Amino acid sequence: MTSPRALVTGAGIAGLSTAYWLARAGWDVTVLERFSAFRDGGQNIDVRGAAREVLSRMGLEEAVRGLGTTEQGTALVDGDGRVIARFPVEDPDGPTAELEILRGDLAGVILGALPDSVTVRYGDQIEGVRDDGTSVEVTLMSGPAERYDLVVIAEGVRSRTRDLIPGLTVTRRELGVTMAYGTIARTGDDDRWWRWYSAEGGRQITLRPDRTGTTRATLAFTGDGDLGDLPLDRVRAELRGRFHDAGWQAERVVDGFARSDDVYLDRLTQIVMPSWSAGRVCVTGDAAWCVTPLGGGGTSLAMVGGYVLAAYLSRAEVGVALTRYEQWMRPLIEDAQKLPPGTPGLFYPTSAAGVRALRLAARIGSTGVLRRLTARIGHVARTGRALPEMGGPPPR
Ligand SMILES: Cc1cc2nc3c(=O)[nH]c(=O)nc-3n(C[C@H](O)[C@H](O)[C@H](O)COP(=O)(O)OP(=O)(O)OC[C@H]3O[C@@H](n4cnc5c(N)ncnc54)[C@H](O)[C@@H]3O)c2cc1C
Repeated sequence: MTSPRALVTGAGIAGLSTAYWLARAGWDVTVLERFSAFRDGGQNIDVRGAAREVLSRMGLEEAVRGLGTTEQGTALVDGDGRVIARFPVEDPDGPTAELEILRGDLAGVILGALPDSVTVRYGDQIEGVRDDGTSVEVTLMSGPAERYDLVVIAEGVRSRTRDLIPGLTVTRRELGVTMAYGTIARTGDDDRWWRWYSAEGGRQITLRPDRTGTTRATLAFTGDGDLGDLPLDRVRAELRGRFHDAGWQAERVVDGFARSDDVYLDRLTQIVMPSWSAGRVCVTGDAAWCVTPLGGGGTSLAMVGGYVLAAYLSRAEVGVALTRYEQWMRPLIEDAQKLPPGTPGLFYPTSAAGVRALRLAARIGSTGVLRRLTARIGHVARTGRALPEMGGPPPR
């Protein structure tokens, strides 16, 4: 009997996790990545909740632990770098998780663990999709048409293939926050804490340790200004204009971004879809349910999504499996997308009075409103339900 064939588009955490588990369930899997090479970029992300169990079932927990960023916790600081509040890693509700790793390292670990029945093709993407009910014909940019039993779209928040599929409806919830990520040189002042600094004008600067001897920085701001389509030099100039008077380490980060070649922009957008499948095509990861860093746990949810999808496909025909996958995942996603009142405004105050109020809340209230906000991030991907079991043959 020949194996069923799946095409997974996108070699991010969602696509790689899906490919890994589908192959373990006996599928013949092709992964298509739009970029010409594996994307190992990205900053510190965490593995939480049910994703810890998925990682352990992959046998990769130790590998990930070995690549940990060694972050000790999260600290809110003022303009002089003085700590206002700390959330140590031992705090299960804090923003820093016990398993913190660079996104690229995690993706690399899963890529390296893919079974032989997975083929990864770079520099290609889907141009057309035709689902006749028994199989899906996809037309590729590289030319030929190919036929699959299932297409899984894991292309991230700005997925294009998703928008080609009749029957998939997407609502984009813009959260009004843009984040610029980049790697800068480490200085003696940098410690093992994730330091958060808020400045008036809805601006935030964060610095995080990594294991490679550099520092991972973000510049975030609220309001208009989609920088996504600008060339990198213009993005850097815009960031300098917005942050030159923000205080704390703004100048250092802006200068660092001017030299960094991995500046990555994200205009935070939640993706909400009433259904994650149409016929033999489904969506997963950020393409299906982007929760944004404000919801937290997008990577954990991507790992869980890949596992759950494959587990149901290992035990039921495609239509039934896609329905069960959605039923299992939806409560986790709805929970992560429900931002508490005050978000994002509380973290991004526009006035000097707002900044003072945030610092006061932090000072008196690692236990109050701030704790409730950070605790949400800590709880992401947590469920009392057991993961569905895999029904397919053992790994080949
Ligand atoms: C380079 C990079 C850096 C990131 N850095 C951070 C970070 O620092 N902090 C953070 O919180 N999150 C970051 N993210 C987002 C984070 O990885 C995701 O929120 C989460 O892991 C869920 O991943 P995903 O696989 O659903 O989507 P993504 O991680 O966005 O992966 C989607 C993949 O699909 C590919 N793709 C897109 N369109 C197509 C297409 N038409 N055909 C084929 N392939 C396509 C993309 O190139 C990408 O490799 C980053 C993502 C990327 C790609």
